[in-house]
Amino acid sequence: TYVVTENCIACKFMDCVEVCPVDCFYEGENTLVIHPDECIDCGVCEPECPADAIRPDTEPDMDKWVAFNRRYAEVW
Ligand code: SF4
Repeated sequence: TYVVTENCIACKFMDCVEVCPVDCFYEGENTLVIHPDECIDCGVCEPECPADAIRPDTEPDMDKWVAFNRRYAEVW
């Protein structure tokens, strides 16, 4: 899955949301989040993010960000 990380805070761009083929972006408290179970890992959103906030969870130390994305995505 891909996850939204701290660079998203207060970002007002929605480019990522517009390109996601499965609409798995949700509104968090001060970031967008990606639902980890709905993301199909296509990677299309990553280069669209002007804040470089979207990262694959295969990078090191992503566990807390996966949990963060899940926490806010599951509210909806
Ligand atoms: Fe959506 Fe693809 Fe980004 Fe996952 S990787 S959030 S499916 S655009």
